[in-house]
Amino acid sequence: DTSQTTFKRVLLKISGEALMGDQGYGLHPPTVERIAREVKSVHDMGVEICMVIGGGNIFRGLAGSAQGMERTTADYMGMLATVMNALAMQSALEEHGVFTRVITAIRMDEVAEPYIRRRAVRHLEKKRVCIFAAGTGNPYFTTDTAATLRANEMACEAIFMGKNGVDGVYDKDPMKHDDAVRFDKISYDDVLAKHLKVMDASAIALARDNHLPIIVFSLDEPGGFKGILAGEGTYTTVHG
Ligand code: UDP
Repeated sequence: DTSQTTFKRVLLKISGEALMGDQGYGLHPPTVERIAREVKSVHDMGVEICMVIGGGNIFRGLAGSAQGMERTTADYMGMLATVMNALAMQSALEEHGVFTRVITAIRMDEVAEPYIRRRAVRHLEKKRVCIFAAGTGNPYFTTDTAATLRANEMACEAIFMGKNGVDGVYDKDPMKHDDAVRFDKISYDDVLAKHLKVMDASAIALARDNHLPIIVFSLDEPGGFKGILAGEGTYTTVHG
């Protein structure tokens, strides 16, 4: 029964690339709209939803620094990119009648509200989708770390990592190896020891230390997010 879930509050993490469609860069509004519909269908189940969106479709700090830009400056540019993605998602969700707040770790009061933990919790209680932007606000971190940090602060029951082209965690790259095997469950320590690409290592460690389950699933199938919340479909749970 896909109308039922045991989850009350979750965080959905998607990469910036999830919003670019086939363009290879930037924002593809129909793709943003498609993901907004996925989020709306879970919101309609009564689940409180946090979102963290990456910025890699616009700018990545490491790419900038590889081309000679100062690393911290490049990282701030990456964080600003996530704000653009958050605003695009806000617009698409509100088009569907889902109320949202974009909450930024770097102050820009004209654009989005600053991060104040208790205020964000209150938004969730009022069933507003909280889109956390600008990462952690610190260079040298990633939006995976930001997702784990906010999920802990908001007392989410799990992080849902919505992926494109893959429906969980495999023992090797399923795009390259026909015999790759998907894990139903895997421990944080095994993910770290085997260097599996779920999240970066600091994000995994932060999830592990706070017993926050990470559920890796595919965002490609319509209704996929809702199905996973109802316990259907294929996915991998990373746990303690
Ligand atoms: N970033 C940062 N601190 C953070 C989060 C992000 O400096 O707390 C920067 C970093 O440069 C990163 C960029 O923002 O490359 C975009 O985020 P990320 O690469 O995590 O996006 P994704 O790969 O998920 O699209």
